[in-house]
Amino acid sequence: MRFKGKRALVTGAAGGIGKVISQMLRAEGARVAAADRNCDAVDAEVRISGNLLDPAYADALPRTATKALGGLDIIINNAGVITRGPVTETSDQDWALSIGVNVEAPFRICRAGIPLLAEAGGGAIVNIASCWGVHPGPNHAVYCMTKAAIASLTQCMGRDHAHQGIHINAVCPNEVDTPMLRTGFEKRGFDPATAIAELGRTVPLGRVARPEDIADVVLFLASDAARYMCGSLVEVNGGKPVS
Ligand code: NAD
Repeated sequence: MRFKGKRALVTGAAGGIGKVISQMLRAEGARVAAADRNCDAVDAEVRISGNLLDPAYADALPRTATKALGGLDIIINNAGVITRGPVTETSDQDWALSIGVNVEAPFRICRAGIPLLAEAGGGAIVNIASCWGVHPGPNHAVYCMTKAAIASLTQCMGRDHAHQGIHINAVCPNEVDTPMLRTGFEKRGFDPATAIAELGRTVPLGRVARPEDIADVVLFLASDAARYMCGSLVEVNGGKPVS
């Protein structure tokens, strides 16, 4: 029960990784405010449905969660979108969506949330970046750029707010078996189960990550065990180098 008495805001809580982060936090005693486009089916103490592309919604999330939970100790910026292609195939819509969800929303949530955590004497923020934010992969130029942006923001915020007792770090996963990965295969005409099994053979550990593999590291960074970590980017990749 590492999180007994703790209050956490989790974005993307209806998605593959977010749902498991919320479940695991609650299983260890935390009370969770879930944020996603539609949280109706999410198990959480508080559900705050809305669109992260709406600046007013993103700006208000930390305070809304604080009011509903009676305080806030942990923020997990997990929501994300992926768009494919090189820059020459990136539409204005893809650009705005990627920047809006992957960079602007966590920026707004951190900007609003950090003063609340500071007032309460400290806390933890965990951002979900990507291995591709550290080592860009092919054909996802804007996605890689947004993940590099949130990785860089994490390093800056980790340093700038350490003196307030706020631990800001990021997890950088490689491929994870979630709707994001599966719909990507479907859109390209592949059977997701077969494609994920084949992809698993390219990972030294022998399989693609499950959401739990990522959530375990997120919970570590949100816990007191990571009390000396500020601005770290933690790659969780099964030994798979990204080129
Ligand atoms: P997912 O698609 O299963 O979940 C993402 C969630 O974000 C969804 O529930 C979605 O509704 C929510 N979201 C997206 N746009 C939103 C918006 N405008 N407003 C509110 N909510 C919105 O994806 P996932 O794989 O669970 O991804 C979680 C995080 O992990 C993302 O930041 C993603 O970039 C990152 N990541 C995933 C992988 C992977 O292979 N799955 C790899 C590296 C990093």
